[in-house]
Amino acid sequence: MRAFITYYGYTDGSGEYYIVIDAEKCNSCGDCIKVCPEGALVMEAMFIDLEDKMVAAVTEEQRKKIRYTCSSCKPEEGNVPCVVACSQNAIACIWKPKK
Ligand code: SF4
Ligand code: SF4
Repeated sequence: MRAFITYYGYTDGSGEYYIVIDAEKCNSCGDCIKVCPEGALVMEAMFIDLEDKMVAAVTEEQRKKIRYTCSSCKPEEGNVPCVVACSQNAIACIWKPKK
């Protein structure tokens, strides 16, 4: 069961914009935070398997404006810095602007 996958972002009339983080895969390395040009990522405690684990998360402030924040990474071209930096495949960027 994949219970610890968090979708940060939203769907609206202009498309779908999410950063997706799998807390079970995240090893707390912080590499995605170091490469994010917008300072959109932080480490946050999540209660997993009866203990608090530090996992990557999108900041509260950025969750409502992912479309604008993450557009600087040109997600439509792939090579998204946070995704590329993650050796655990724990982070993904869903970017589907309506044409
Ligand atoms: S790079 Fe990956 S494993 Fe490391 S903190 Fe970020 S999401 Fe977690
Ligand atoms: S897509 Fe870019 S701005 Fe958005 S979280 Fe990843 S590295 Fe940061």
